[in-house]
Amino acid sequence: MGIEQRFERVADEVAEVCRAAGRNPGEVRIVAVSKTVGPEAVRQAVTGGAHDFGENRPDSLMEKAALYPDETWHFIGNIQSRRIPAIVGSATLIHSLYEERHARKIDEAAAAAGKVQDVLLEVNVSGEASKSGLAPDDVAKLLDVCGQLSHVRVRGLMTMAPRGERCATHDAFEGLVRLQAVLRSGMRADRAAVFDGLSMGMSEDWREAVRAGATIVRIGRAIFDDAFEDVPF
Ligand SMILES: *Cc1c(COP(=O)(O)O)cnc(C)c1O
Repeated sequence: MGIEQRFERVADEVAEVCRAAGRNPGEVRIVAVSKTVGPEAVRQAVTGGAHDFGENRPDSLMEKAALYPDETWHFIGNIQSRRIPAIVGSATLIHSLYEERHARKIDEAAAAAGKVQDVLLEVNVSGEASKSGLAPDDVAKLLDVCGQLSHVRVRGLMTMAPRGERCATHDAFEGLVRLQAVLRSGMRADRAAVFDGLSMGMSEDWREAVRAGATIVRIGRAIFDDAFEDVPF
């Protein structure tokens, strides 16, 4: 099976899992994570129907976004201060903001580029030391900071679940959903209206994420890696 077919299969399955969970398939956006593949693979995914792509390095983001400007590009990687203008120049949505100093730099870069940058705040729900992101209790503070920045708009939350253990995965997704609800209930109505995104779920755990309420799934290997073994749970 080629990339085109694998994307189509993932898209069909996402729709199926949505319907089984009583959700509208239109509520879930599939970000095809193209970080390990070249421009030709991106082209094949586009042929299969993909329109959102995720990259974790500013250089590849810029290169591929320039080749495929009609698609929507997401930055999902670790943010480095000095690369923020490059990221802001190409990304429609930044999923991985968790530091105040980066928020301020994104605001500056977006102002210079004449745009308002949409971002998600990355949360380390499970508290694993190896994971980046805000502790759940620190999210409100960064939200307040971003609320003062006129060129940054917080569109929701992002997390990576612990690998392998079904129960821990489920808890992380549910934890993010609850956190979003709590934060939303304390927000001004205009802010709450756009704070509707939940980026969670990857090749191995996206089904669980969709059932929990993900609005964005970030899928790499299941689309681009021929050797990926799907073990649905
Ligand atoms: C690589 C990556 C993904 C995609 O992971 P797969 O397991 O290949 O689907 C999703 N999110 C982030 C942040 C990543 O770095």
